[in-house]
Amino acid sequence: MIEIIISGLIILGLIILALIIILAIKLSQKKHFELVKNYSDKYKALILMNEEILFSSLGNLYYHKSFKIKRDFEKNTLEEIALEYIRHSLDIINSAFKAIQNNINLYDIYCQKYQILLESESTNTNLKISKDRYNDIEKKLLAKNKLMPQISINLTITKSYTSDKGKNHYNDSGYFDYNHIKHMHAQILDDLTKKSSEHYRRRIERSKVTDGIRFDVFKRDGFRCKICGASADSRVKLHVDHIKPISKGGDSNINNLQTLCESCNMGKSDKYDEGENWINLQL
Ligand SMILES: [Zn+2]
Repeated sequence: MIEIIISGLIILGLIILALIIILAIKLSQKKHFELVKNYSDKYKALILMNEEILFSSLGNLYYHKSFKIKRDFEKNTLEEIALEYIRHSLDIINSAFKAIQNNINLYDIYCQKYQILLESESTNTNLKISKDRYNDIEKKLLAKNKLMPQISINLTITKSYTSDKGKNHYNDSGYFDYNHIKHMHAQILDDLTKKSSEHYRRRIERSKVTDGIRFDVFKRDGFRCKICGASADSRVKLHVDHIKPISKGGDSNINNLQTLCESCNMGKSDKYDEGENWINLQL
């Protein structure tokens, strides 16, 4: 019995001794770290570098859409909502991209300076630590204090639907990483470019119908409506019409132009009913 107690006490004593040794090592390590921190020119240079460099802080993007109709909640995918958000927040997205690019550029310069610093000779050797130990601690100290800027953003989309009486509640969420955001953004810009170039094409096509062209069309068609045959003599207003509407890809080539009276023109307009299909030029 006594033997067990004694051996127990010995084990306990050994454990305590081990703990004391570990603590002493830790304390001496901490002391060494503090020592290197105080004496290291490299560490001081890094802290100075960190203070001088101005990385942008960005945060992440978040957008919530709530639906009043369950069918809309189901129909609108998270990807579609993300696209809608990006389309309406181009300024925010553009400035985030700019900040990221700025951070990447700055980080590149920062890393070059850091590497030079890391590879330079340590000057402080007049310490009670071996040179290897000193260099080791210094390296760790530098790595620990090296800055890492934000070089990406992510977008969280959430959607929800709550029934009128609040009985049923549905929600869903999705996470879009930086590459996905960039892809969607490029897609939106591409659509916008296409739209604006289409807008430009339509304007150009409309401007091509000059007075001279108009007269040529009327003359070719005998100053008569191509549908009902009404002529300018019978006090009918004649228009020049695009057979294939500009909005449907039609051009202002004379073969795509015809003479129509006002009422036939309107009739055709009703048929297409798209507002922009027409160019109406009175005689
Ligand atoms: Zn007519």
